[in-house]
Amino acid sequence: MAIRVKIRGFNGLLILLGLMEQALQRTFLEDETATAKFAASLLPLLHAGDVVYLQGDLGAGKTTLTRALLRLLAYTGTVNSPTYTLIESYQLPPFDLHHFDLYRLKSADELEALGARDLFDAGSVCMIEWPQNAQDWLPGANIVVEIEHAEQGRWVQVQNNKLD
Ligand code: ADP
Ligand code: MG
Repeated sequence: MAIRVKIRGFNGLLILLGLMEQALQRTFLEDETATAKFAASLLPLLHAGDVVYLQGDLGAGKTTLTRALLRLLAYTGTVNSPTYTLIESYQLPPFDLHHFDLYRLKSADELEALGARDLFDAGSVCMIEWPQNAQDWLPGANIVVEIEHAEQGRWVQVQNNKLD
């Protein structure tokens, strides 16, 4: 009994620390400009080979964030949402960036047919909207960015699995 209480107490502490850590990492983005600034803080975390899951509802700002990252990497061309193409790729220094939007994905076979497996290589960063639509097919994420709607603006939280 005593041991049980001890374990529960330790677990409780871990959960509390986890919640505190999450709360501390949550950032409020008041407008699209703030989202672009947030991209600047995310960029140093990204390295070739990373898989980034972008979580959040429609209109949360996943594509906006990806576009802002591309601008920071000095890409000046059009950044379309890959809503219909599933993937848009950008060959840049310092890495290739593959932007996935799996909102409309019906089967992972569509990704196989596009040769998407080969995009997860050591020289690429893959940023994936709606990863839950291919969760059995996708590699795990090094970084998870979660964006939530606020009444005005957005909340964003980053989970950096590379630190684990
Ligand atoms: P998603 O890819 O998540 O579906 P988009 O990036 O296409 O969303 O669209 C997000 C919309 O929200 C855009 O109209 C953008 O201008 C706006 N937006 C982005 N960031 C913010 C923010 N921090 N506060 C308010 N609006 C934002
Ligand atoms: Mg999008």
